[in-house]
Amino acid sequence: MVIVRVSGRCYNITAMVSLFTEVKKTRPARFFGEAVAWITRWTTRLRPSQAVRCRRCGRDLFHAPKYRQARICDFCGYNFPLSARARIQALADSATFVEFTPARRAIRPPRTFYLRPGYRASRQREAIVVGTAQIAQQAVVIAAFDFRVFGGSMSVAVGEAMARSFEHAARQQLPLVAIIASGGVRIQEGLSALLQMAKTVVAAQEFQRAHRPFIAVLTNPTTGGVYASFASLADILLAEPGALIGFAGPRIAQVATGLTLPAGSHTAESALQNGMLDAIVPREELRERIAKLLALASPPSPSLPSSPILSNCTATDCSAMIRPSWVDWHDSRISRLL
Ligand SMILES: [Zn+2]
Repeated sequence: MVIVRVSGRCYNITAMVSLFTEVKKTRPARFFGEAVAWITRWTTRLRPSQAVRCRRCGRDLFHAPKYRQARICDFCGYNFPLSARARIQALADSATFVEFTPARRAIRPPRTFYLRPGYRASRQREAIVVGTAQIAQQAVVIAAFDFRVFGGSMSVAVGEAMARSFEHAARQQLPLVAIIASGGVRIQEGLSALLQMAKTVVAAQEFQRAHRPFIAVLTNPTTGGVYASFASLADILLAEPGALIGFAGPRIAQVATGLTLPAGSHTAESALQNGMLDAIVPREELRERIAKLLALASPPSPSLPSSPILSNCTATDCSAMIRPSWVDWHDSRISRLL
């Protein structure tokens, strides 16, 4: 059997040849017409990019420059989903990304998931890619979710990768930038996946002791257990315009409460109005804005007291002596920038 993979789709050449042969034998008069129809259908599937239309306004985006550059609709501003690696490529300096995503997948999901086109196209084993990189020549740890893999859900392996990101960033004294696109915890892994909420929250709290900034970029969608755990604990919360943000989606919230929610109740704009976000940043400005925040977050640190002083003071005194509180820094400087 000969399988050819083109643009993420698999084509069984052997089956196609046998089908052509069968058609030629049984219906020789119509063979030419059938062959033309098959070739037309096949070549159409080989060029899906020529039929790109905006999911919101329906306009043709094949020649749209903004879409080709950043996957944004030139007409209505709709943000198309991006893969984890495309996110990292858009943010990080060229050829600076070094991946350390854990290789194993802890619990195997049902085999039917492997057959889904989005999962096959992603070529990712898990819904997260983590590693170190540089953004405008500033070293960071980057963690990017890939929504095509099981809806960006947080499995045991994803939780482990996120916890290792926090630990590595704390150990190396690096800021952490997380790009979130997730539907929540992975229900197929049950309680094990649910426990990743607690695990990542503890990792985020441990990372706070390193006094390095944690920047989260909430993209469409950021919901469920990921938003309810480490994502909302970031020091700086940014979001893309129009992103769906919330613990439960608007449909589930309406069913659960029996209330009719106002339009746009679960959007980034609504979250910003209600103080749940620091800023909404357009995708094309994201790299520049994060670079500015990282530069601000790396001021010359006050000299650390020597260890005998540390050993002789209380915990409260020590925290005041070592460095100014990150919360104070956030209130005084970030508010001016954003
Ligand atoms: Zn559009």
